[in-house]
Amino acid sequence: IEPADSLVHAFRRSAAEVPDRPCLAYFDGRLGYREVDELSDSVAGHLAARGLRPGDRVAVLLQNSPLFVLALLGAWKAGATVVPVNPMYKAGEVAHVLRDGEVTALICSDRAWEAYLRETAADSPVRIVLIGCELDFQTRGDARVLAFERLPQAPDADDLTAVARAGHRAPAGREAAPDDIALISYTSGTSGAPKGATNTHGNIMYNAERQRTGLRLPEAPVYYALAPLFHITGMVCQLGACLNSAGTLVLTYRFEAGLVLEAFAEHRPHYTVGPSTAFMALAAHPSCTRDHFASFAHISSGGAPVPPALVETFRAGFGPYIRNGYGLTECTAPCASVPPQHEAPVDPASGTLAVGVPGPDTVVRIVDDRGAEAPFGEQGEIVVRGPQVVPGYWRRPEATAEAFPGGELRTGDIGFMDEQGWLYVVDRKKDMINASGFKVWPREVEDVLYTHPSVREAAVVGVPDGYRGETVKAYISLRPGADADADTLAAYCKDRLAAYKYPRQVEILPDLPKTASGKILRRELRSRPHDGQ
Ligand code: ATP
Repeated sequence: IEPADSLVHAFRRSAAEVPDRPCLAYFDGRLGYREVDELSDSVAGHLAARGLRPGDRVAVLLQNSPLFVLALLGAWKAGATVVPVNPMYKAGEVAHVLRDGEVTALICSDRAWEAYLRETAADSPVRIVLIGCELDFQTRGDARVLAFERLPQAPDADDLTAVARAGHRAPAGREAAPDDIALISYTSGTSGAPKGATNTHGNIMYNAERQRTGLRLPEAPVYYALAPLFHITGMVCQLGACLNSAGTLVLTYRFEAGLVLEAFAEHRPHYTVGPSTAFMALAAHPSCTRDHFASFAHISSGGAPVPPALVETFRAGFGPYIRNGYGLTECTAPCASVPPQHEAPVDPASGTLAVGVPGPDTVVRIVDDRGAEAPFGEQGEIVVRGPQVVPGYWRRPEATAEAFPGGELRTGDIGFMDEQGWLYVVDRKKDMINASGFKVWPREVEDVLYTHPSVREAAVVGVPDGYRGETVKAYISLRPGADADADTLAAYCKDRLAAYKYPRQVEILPDLPKTASGKILRRELRSRPHDGQ
C-alpha cells in the first residue's frame, strides 16, 4: 500500500478498513476506530466554528489519555499545527511556549486549567479553550486510588468531552500536505531556551511508516504507550505507528510501574518503546515476571543512553531483548535503530552499546571540529540528513542556520561509526567533563556503575574542583533492598576505570530527577550543592 500523506490520512484509511477494531484502550474503556474518527471530527468542527484557521497553532497539554488523541486528530483535521506541551511544565515554561508559538487554542485537563493555566492563558494569544477530565489516579500507601471526580465546569472554557460528543462535522478542504508543519515540538536542543522544532506531516509519516514496515508485528498489533505522547518518541513510534497499522494503543495516563505491568498482563501488547529508566523501574518492581513480557515481539529503548548491563540483565531476568534506537526531536524520533534480525554490538574498547544503523534514505556522518569527515572508529559530532529531519526551528532563523547548515542536522552528540556501519553515541558534547585536562564522558562511567548489582539508576556529572577544575561525581539510586554505600561504589569504579575517570564523589539519593519523558536530568544534578563548594 502507498504511504499516506499525513497521519490523519493514515488514520482515516485504518478507520475505513477496521471501523469496529479498538483503536484506544484506557483502563476499562475502549474506543473503536469509527468512534475515534467521529469524536475527533466533532472536535475539528468545533474548532473551525470558533474561528480556527488552517495553520493556526493549537497547544495540547494532556497526559496519555484518549483525550490527547481526540485533541490531536481534531486539531489536525481542522488544519492546525499542534504544539504538544509537557504536562510537567511550570506556568512560566507554558507561558513561553504559548507566546513563542503564537498559540490560538489550548486543549488541556480541567485540573491544570484550574491550577494555573487559566491565569497563564489570560496573558497569551490563546482565545479558544477546551478542557477535559482525564482519569487521574493517586498512590496512597500501597493502594492506588482512581479519582474520577471532576472539577466544576469552567465558565470560560468549553468541555472537550461534550464537544467531541456533539456530532459536529469536520470542516472540508483542510487536508495537510506533506510539507505542512504538523507539530511544533519544544526542546532544549543543543543549547539555550526551548525552541520549537517544526516536524512536518512528511517527517512524521516517514518514521511512522518505517515503524509499520520495519517491525513486522502481527495483524491487529497492540502497542503499549510507555513513552508520553507529548514527546516525539511516544507520538511517532507509538501513536503514529499504531494508527498507521490499524493497531490498538493501550494508554495508562502516566508511567507507574505497577500499573504498566497490570496493563501488560491484561492487554498482552506486541510492542512498546520507552527510556531505559522505565525498564529499570519495571525490572525493580517486586511483581515483575517473565510472563509480563511473553506477548512482546519487540521492545525498543531510545531517547537516552541504554546501558549494556540493562540489556543483559533484562534478557536474563525477563526474556526480551531491548533494542536500542537513537533519535532527537529534530529528527522526529529515530534516525538509527537496531534492525529486527540483528543485535547491537558492544564496542570492545569503550564498552558502549551501538545505537543502531541509519534508516534507509538517512545519511549519518561523523565530523571533526573543522567539519571534516572522521575515519571509522574516530569520535566526532554526529550529523544527520534524511526525510525525518525537520526543516528548522519555529521562527528562529539564526538557530536554524546554526543547527541545520545546508539542511543537515548537527546533533550536538559525540559518536563514532564502525566499519560495519554501526553507530555509537558517546555522549552529549556539552556534558563532557574536563578533569585536569582529561576528557571524561559521563556515559562510560555510568555504564560501569550499571554493572554493579546494587545500582538502579546512575548519573555522572562534572562538578567544580579547586585542584582539577572539574571532577567526576556520580549520583546513584539503589535497587530495593540493596545496601552498597558510596565508598564501595567509588572503589568499584576505581578498579575498572582509569584514575582520572572514576568518581571521586558518590552520592546516593532515593531517586534521581527525571524529565516527564523519563530521562535523567544531569543538569539538575549539576546544580545541587557539592563537596568543596
Ligand atoms: P528536551 O527534554 O528539552 O527536549 P533533549 O535534548 O533530551 O531535551 P530530545 O530530542 O528528547 O531532547 O533528545 C535527544 C537526545 O537524546 C540526543 O541528542 C541524545 O543526546 C540523546 N539520545 C537519544 N537516543 C539516544 C541513545 N539511544 N543513546 C544515547 N543517547 C541518546
